[in-house]
Amino acid sequence: MTRILRTIAEVRAWRKTLRPEQTLGFVPTMGALHQGHMSLMQIARQKADIVIASIFVNPLQFGPNEDLSKYPRPIEKDIALLGEARVDALFLPPVAELYPEGASSVVLEEAVSTHLCGASRPGHFRGVTTVVLKLFNIVAPDFAVFGQKDAQQCLVIERMVRDLDVPVEIIRGPIVREADGLALSSRNVYLAPEDRAAAPAIFASLNAAKAAWAAGERNGARLAEIGRARLAQEGRITPQYWEVRDRTSLKPIETVGPEGALFAVAAHLGTTRLIDNLEVSG
Ligand code: AMP
Repeated sequence: MTRILRTIAEVRAWRKTLRPEQTLGFVPTMGALHQGHMSLMQIARQKADIVIASIFVNPLQFGPNEDLSKYPRPIEKDIALLGEARVDALFLPPVAELYPEGASSVVLEEAVSTHLCGASRPGHFRGVTTVVLKLFNIVAPDFAVFGQKDAQQCLVIERMVRDLDVPVEIIRGPIVREADGLALSSRNVYLAPEDRAAAPAIFASLNAAKAAWAAGERNGARLAEIGRARLAQEGRITPQYWEVRDRTSLKPIETVGPEGALFAVAAHLGTTRLIDNLEVSG
């Protein structure tokens, strides 16, 4: 049975009941859990003595025209999944618990977060860094697990932890995909059947660029063109960005060197925005 904790005081009291030698792993989520989330729980379960997850649909990271109010919230199902995964505790705070009246402090990362999704979703990463640092301060985990699905989010959080001396180790879990290549996402439930059928073209476009890279193409602009051209074959998809970027700074790359590159894509299918990425190196 997963212990449900709804207030900061409850989490801190629970944390105090752990023995000093017990390691605590943390998996923050927005809920609507799927096998991508569950793979992160398994990583935490294998590495830590005690595992805590959080479910919090963070209003601060949604833009005014985004899907905050309609974001899926199947909480009973989520709690059952966490129980099956032997997650020890769930932090499930109401919004007012994390953002009381008059809260006026935020956390800003000002380099990595300006690229890619940061450019198309102003304020998004400000919301992410603020809530993640708050969650780290409340939970005080030894390590936290994040998905490579949100590669930029991983980089922004790694940078924040380094720059602000946060004593939490960040671990990345690999992207979990459907059999046809579509990366699992809580937002996939929004897709109309025709859009769901078209969606694997996103991963196919990443693989087209990877194949060109494997065949020797090292020009960043040409690799991005190959990816964009493959995505354009699927008329239902409206690309937002398709970029070849440095794996740490997220700056554009002219020539891909031995340190490799991150191929990153964001696209709309109907009103649903999906992201995916692939790293190449060597
Ligand atoms: P979210 O609930 O969308 O905020 O995601 C919570 C965590 O799960 C984040 O660290 C995500 O990167 C991770 N995640 C989401 N989808 C996947 C996936 N398909 N594979 C692996 N991790 C994922």
